[in-house]
Amino acid sequence: MPPPQLFTDPAAWQARCGQARDSGLRLALVPTMGFLHEGHRSLLREARRRADQGGKRGLALATIFVNPTQFGATEDLSRYPRDLAGDLASCQEAGIDLVLAPPDPALVFAPGHQTWVDVEQASQGLCGASRPGHFRGVATVVLKLLNLTRPHLALFGEKDWQQLAVIRAMVRDLDLGVEIVGMPIVREADGLARSSRNAYLTPEQRPIALALSRSLFEAREAVQAGRREAAALTAAARARLAAAGARVDYVEIVHPDTLRPVAEAAPGSVMLLAALVGTTRLIDNLVLP
Ligand code: AMP
Repeated sequence: MPPPQLFTDPAAWQARCGQARDSGLRLALVPTMGFLHEGHRSLLREARRRADQGGKRGLALATIFVNPTQFGATEDLSRYPRDLAGDLASCQEAGIDLVLAPPDPALVFAPGHQTWVDVEQASQGLCGASRPGHFRGVATVVLKLLNLTRPHLALFGEKDWQQLAVIRAMVRDLDLGVEIVGMPIVREADGLARSSRNAYLTPEQRPIALALSRSLFEAREAVQAGRREAAALTAAARARLAAAGARVDYVEIVHPDTLRPVAEAAPGSVMLLAALVGTTRLIDNLVLP
């Protein structure tokens, strides 16, 4: 695969993507914050696959932008891991054509920016409760990236289940006319969900982090054995996380679309959890059988 063409200026990107769309090409976009891992790469490869349709090669696009507006004042913005050279290699390997990586956040959020997207219901609870303003920042940057790119489809990971629900609601409510594709969670061999933030974990913290996926797999087994009471399932997960040494933020079983808590885990209910391992906040989720 040839290396992707790198854009640093959103205006030049917008012009290039607009020209491609006007000439009839199909555009598939993967927005990321970089430090790309196998989870991201699964999205990039699927973007390549879906951009090409009916024997006609489309444009597979990725953005790499650590969006400051989705980080809280006490969060990890300044230490968020970055590796542009490695990311471009991942994009090349996946067959991405164009990459937008603005080096300065002011290129995306110009001084005086004052317009925000608030997806009211989907942003409530779960990560929205512990990260006030997070989904406002996410929805706003995703809308900007969609407007800059005007793709036919955009791909997001189910790893960030609530984020996906927020984006689907925004696209529906604001008639954005873009297809949103959700992609399954990619895990390490031992079950840990791939995350850029796993890079923060020390060797001693790694087994603690494993308690997140283990709790979810344990809940899946309980459900398969007929134990569907949400309170019991979440209590067991909390106990497992605490015993491993993780600090629980939330454990909930919710309806997959409304994200409202359910009393009984029905097929398709989603169990979501967030926990701190040392100072690293990790999230994971699983669709229950
Ligand atoms: P991020 O760079 O963390 O903003 O993630 C960019 C995109 O990759 C988001 O749509 C994430 O949901 C998705 N993603 C991150 N980790 C994973 C994973 N382990 N499996 C699948 N998708 C992922």
